[in-house]
Amino acid sequence: MVRVFGEKVKLLIVVAVVLLGVCGSGQAGAAERIGLVPVKNIKVDGLFWGKKLAVYKAGTIPHSWQYMGWDLRALKHANGIKVQGDLNGTWGEANLYKFMETCGHSLGMFADAELEKRMDEIIVLIAGAQRPDGYVHAYITNSGKPAWDRDFLDGSHDGYVLGHMIEAAVEYYANTGKKAFLDIACRAARQAYEEFLGPKGVPGFCGHAELEMALVELYRVVPDKRFLDLAKAFVEWRGQGKVKPAGPTPRAYFQDEAPLRQQKSLDGHAVRAIFFATGVADLAVETGDCDYRLASNRFWDSVTLRRMYITGSIGPRKEHEAFGEDYELPNDGYCESCGACGLADFAQRMFMLEGRAECGDVLERVLYNAILHGISLNGTTSYYQNPLSDKDNPRYNSWVCCPPNLSRTLFQVGRYAYGYSEDDIYVNLYVGGRCVVPLKRGGVELTMKTDYPWDGRVKIGVKDASAGRFSVHLRMPGWCRKAELKLNGKAVEPIPVGEKGYIILDRVWHRDDSIELNMEMPVVRIEAHPNVKSCVGKVALQRGPIVYGFEGLDNDGDVDIELGADPQFGVEHKPDMLGGITIVRGQSATGKGFTAIPFYAFANRAKSRQEVWVVQRGVKPNDRWWLGELYRPVEKVD
Ligand SMILES: [Zn+2]
Repeated sequence: MVRVFGEKVKLLIVVAVVLLGVCGSGQAGAAERIGLVPVKNIKVDGLFWGKKLAVYKAGTIPHSWQYMGWDLRALKHANGIKVQGDLNGTWGEANLYKFMETCGHSLGMFADAELEKRMDEIIVLIAGAQRPDGYVHAYITNSGKPAWDRDFLDGSHDGYVLGHMIEAAVEYYANTGKKAFLDIACRAARQAYEEFLGPKGVPGFCGHAELEMALVELYRVVPDKRFLDLAKAFVEWRGQGKVKPAGPTPRAYFQDEAPLRQQKSLDGHAVRAIFFATGVADLAVETGDCDYRLASNRFWDSVTLRRMYITGSIGPRKEHEAFGEDYELPNDGYCESCGACGLADFAQRMFMLEGRAECGDVLERVLYNAILHGISLNGTTSYYQNPLSDKDNPRYNSWVCCPPNLSRTLFQVGRYAYGYSEDDIYVNLYVGGRCVVPLKRGGVELTMKTDYPWDGRVKIGVKDASAGRFSVHLRMPGWCRKAELKLNGKAVEPIPVGEKGYIILDRVWHRDDSIELNMEMPVVRIEAHPNVKSCVGKVALQRGPIVYGFEGLDNDGDVDIELGADPQFGVEHKPDMLGGITIVRGQSATGKGFTAIPFYAFANRAKSRQEVWVVQRGVKPNDRWWLGELYRPVEKVD
């Protein structure tokens, strides 16, 4: 066995030095550009994600159609077609577009002629609702309200809706090759450009960030500089008084309290803030601008070191659905699902920007915990909020912003798993299946066999017909303390972990080379930074990437667990329980047996209390320094 755990402190110093060095010289940002593998190049199978995607394909997508009625009626009405029934409200069409993006991803993985036909029919309606100048938002057209209403930019969601439309169009094009939707999106984006940056343009921005990152995504497919310039302008106009709040809402709510370069932390409405940060990171990736890169890293540190739950949720406050102060993470906090989806995207963009394994750690944390918690195991009900401590919280069918955001995020699991640059392949998530990585020198096929996250063994096949040299980067998870690595059956010692946290295998590859990574996966007690008041004297259980918790149903209604100084844990995989989970068993300080289940599986049965953090007895407060960590194992690492 080889100890592989690297100190994050050292990593942070390296990052700081690199940032100072690169940005101080005024050069472009990240040296090597990291791209994402298209969804259609990826096949997901296996015990965990294969099963989940099958549920979402067979359950979530058919179920979602019933909530599209008022958006589709609104589009028909805007086409001049007579309809009966309610039409959508201010931001309703964003839900339709998030659902269409979900379907676009699904079509990239699962051929479905009927679904594609329905998508094409909606695209015809969107085209019919598009005004001659390119503007398309059926709610505004139908209600007679002004487009890009200058007296209501903070609340009208015009840009939010357009942003989700653009993202749906980009994905539909990527996965089907059909351009009609993409053309609609380009015309709408050019109308927005004229509105804000054209000869008669007036500065401003939509109060709900989203369009920024969507414009950068569109620019990557259709390199019209106007898209990038508009995204930059939306970011630069922050903190300049360009948007007049319609009500008493503070400017921080929509990230307008200070110019970008003076924003030190991520504040305000958590979903808006994390989408904004993602847009800034996208701009940093695309332009190489050091100010954007530095701001992205400030936002990253603000969230991941001081404002993120152990489950990856963000946004503890119900008032304004907002971030709180540093370390303000009450266990019954708000934790909107959309915030978790936003953090997954921000982590992905930060990976593209910096190539650090730590970004994959956060992505994995939020995906396996907060995001999966948001959607029920059968894929048809969801949570708007994902508190870590709760009671009698039943699953419900509130179709607001979160359900289609969860589905569009979950269908991208394959894309979150991989990245590549000119001669490098990155594996960020261990997901069973196949992937063709489009390296410049030609496609390289990776196959992955694993029962992760229940088992830490991963077998990767590298199938390259041309026997070329390139590197395979495997993320060494931050949770992993011990691992073994084999290449074509031979142990590789020590494991070559680079400064950014990846195992780097740089060599000439041959057809059917194989890598085996075996990560030990003990149950570990995790403590939070002592400034997190709600967690003082408490621990949470984690095994691999899965955060565990206690439901009353498994513990005679008692989830006020107290652990002794040296608790022993046992694990058992239960294929028939809650969709197939590994449970953790142990004994409390009083000798009473307990069962813990993954946090994400909470509240899929009858009502009962739920807790993640439990009292730790008989352990002195740890006196190790807290630097560059928000959560860490209780057990001391030599
Ligand atoms: Zn939401």
